[in-house]
Amino acid sequence: MARVLVVDDEPGMREGCRRVLEAEGHQVATAGDGPQALALAEGGSFDLALIDLKMPGMDGLQVLEALRERDGDLACLIITAYATLDTAVAATKSGAYDYLAKPFTPEELMLVVRKALAHRELTLEARRLRQEAERSLLLLATEQSRLRTIIDCMGEALLVTNARGQLVLHNPAALRLLGLREIPLGSAAAAALAGHRALARLLAEAGEREAMLSRELALPQGRVLRANAARIRDETEADLGVVCLLGDITDLKQLERAKVQFVSMVGHELKAPLAAIQGYLEILGGELGDPAQRRQMLERCQQRCGDLLKLVTDLLDVSRMEQGQATRKVERVKLAEVLSEVIAALRPMAEREQVALSLSLPPRPPDVFADRQEMVRLFTNLVSNGVKYNRPGGEVAVTMAAEGSHLKVTVADTGLGIPASALPGLGAEFYRVNTAHARAIPGTGLGLAIVRRILEANRGQLEVASEEGVGSTFTVYLPLREGEEDDRT
Ligand code: ADP
Repeated sequence: MARVLVVDDEPGMREGCRRVLEAEGHQVATAGDGPQALALAEGGSFDLALIDLKMPGMDGLQVLEALRERDGDLACLIITAYATLDTAVAATKSGAYDYLAKPFTPEELMLVVRKALAHRELTLEARRLRQEAERSLLLLATEQSRLRTIIDCMGEALLVTNARGQLVLHNPAALRLLGLREIPLGSAAAAALAGHRALARLLAEAGEREAMLSRELALPQGRVLRANAARIRDETEADLGVVCLLGDITDLKQLERAKVQFVSMVGHELKAPLAAIQGYLEILGGELGDPAQRRQMLERCQQRCGDLLKLVTDLLDVSRMEQGQATRKVERVKLAEVLSEVIAALRPMAEREQVALSLSLPPRPPDVFADRQEMVRLFTNLVSNGVKYNRPGGEVAVTMAAEGSHLKVTVADTGLGIPASALPGLGAEFYRVNTAHARAIPGTGLGLAIVRRILEANRGQLEVASEEGVGSTFTVYLPLREGEEDDRT
């Protein structure tokens, strides 16, 4: 049922129309002239307007134009006693759907009204459908561009082929990982992926297999990619092609290798002393009667056990540092005290090795913020190395001084020194300098690795200066203030 506005200066005509239209169930409002009609339209919206052409003041065409300007969807019918072709054309131009020539019967009125309302419904429906289609297209375009952005931002490389094995999609990561300047779309995968034959083969094979294929691909410069390729199908099970994702697993591979090396190294380090201990124990358990020899063997067993214990302690330290902060306690530490303790603990060893130990502290030594236990471990490792890699009559001098926002501690020895070529390797797990002299001194190659980790955890830094045959100086910098950024890095 529609809301209809009848605009006519003849009361009889207005009332006649009202009766007929209300009998059909429509809601009707009437106006005697243009301004009244516009005021009614202002107050509420209408679906249809019946407008008399000839009215005093505003004529029908003006009313029609003003009403349609307010509401372009309003269906308008012109009522006229002078139905000529000219009036029909003028009315249609102004937006009227049709016109009725006076006098007309109620049937004639209803016929035109029904047609006008049906036309209005159709126009509105068409517009709604068009808007819906536009919205769907917009959504689709947004969706597509969002998908494209995601694909382009992916760290993994994406390659897609169609059912004919031609490359139809790739992302920037594909170019980067495969080291290609471009991958031409639309050409066969084998040709498009120049130089990556194993990958092209994988794409071809995946197109023929049910299950996803996963393979490692070796690239130049030792890089390794993991490629997962799977066939894709539509809902009718028709082949669409292959999707392949490639990730750079070079770091993982290196980690895996390091793990294997680590286990093998630990294995070897543990095996030699254990075999020696076992050998001595076998002999001791046998017939050997010489007490002096027995004592010597027991001493060796003890020394080897000591080496093993040191290795295990170092390994545990490395893993403790690796596990992170859980057991760390950062506090104000009197480093002067720590250094005195370390020197005192190492004095017996230094005396055995005939190496002089000295400690020089500033008058009012500042504190640092660090984990105390780690500080003990750090300087024990450095000072004991100074003693160990020294010669009888040599020296190890420990000096402390504040330098800017850092505390500087130097551990200088007059020992073997380290060849320049070996300096870059210091601090790596199990790294030992490969000179005959240094090798002959027992050690695990973990001491400086622990030092490095402790300094990393305490925002410190290490500098090493060394001259072969003259001696080495290890300089440690530790921040003086809590939480202060290390300005040396
Ligand atoms: P370790 O002493 O158990 O072998 P470190 O990690 O403490 O392990 O030291 C690594 C290597 O660096 C040592 O094997 C040694 O060759 C060399 N090195 C360390 N400190 C010194 C030093 N003060 N003088 C000479 N060489 C040193």
